[in-house]
Formats: sequence, structure tokens, C-alpha cells
Amino acid sequence: MDTYTLQEFVDAFSRRTRAYFRQADDGICPFCAHSLSTEIQPSAATQADEIPVVGNCSECPAGIRAPVGLLLSNRPRIQSLFADSEVAFRETPFWEFEWCTFAAPTIQQTDPLVASLTIEVADTSVSVLVNSRVEILEIQY
Ligand SMILES: [Zn+2]
Repeated sequence: MDTYTLQEFVDAFSRRTRAYFRQADDGICPFCAHSLSTEIQPSAATQADEIPVVGNCSECPAGIRAPVGLLLSNRPRIQSLFADSEVAFRETPFWEFEWCTFAAPTIQQTDPLVASLTIEVADTSVSVLVNSRVEILEIQY
């Protein structure tokens, strides 16, 4: 029986987790395939430096929480920022990027909500502005 090496397992785990959150970001519950709405909810933060995206399924009790950066990391517009860099973005586990995991966005405006997340692209910082549904409003270089 073929088994994964540790590195292969780590790669597979990263890709599986990204696929799971990509579905949620597409509005599909990864558990039951019904519609899932996602929203940035500052009030759902359990730690001072965390402002999560919360997803609730219309059909099953599934609730997801994700960092804003993890959802953004699946978006073609964000991935294209890395296209001209030396960073092998798709091949690198998402948790190796601080902005994908632990970095909290900054709330710029509350009504309607506008949040910004700083993304490190090689040695440059890019600021991504999103609305409450994590739709990209602007990318500031
Ligand atoms: Zn569901």
C-alpha cells in the first residue's frame, strides 16, 4: 500500500483545507451543499487580534470561521499578485503566510463595513480593502 510521506501529507492537508474554504467562499456549504452566507463579524472575535469571517448554512447546523486572509488566498486577483514574484504561492502551505492565518484585518469603516488586510508579496506590502461579504473593493499598492 502506498502511503504519503510527511511532506506529501502536509501538501494534501493544505490543499484540502483550501478547497474546503473555497467552497464556503463560493457560498456552498462544504458539508451539505446548501447555500452558505459568509460575513466578516468583528463581534465574533474570541481574541483581541482576530476578526473572523463567519459562515452559516441555510440548511444544516454547520458554522465555519475563517481568517479573512485564508478566503482571500483562494481568489485569482490575490493569487495573481504573486505571479511575478519568486514566491511559489500555490505550492506553499497557507499557514506559512502570516496574513493567511493569524493576521487580523483593520476595520476602516463600520457602516457599511470596510476592512483592510495587509498582504506581504515578496518584500512589498499590499493593502486589500474588502466589504462585509469579503468582496474586494480595492487593492492599494
Ligand atoms: Zn450545510
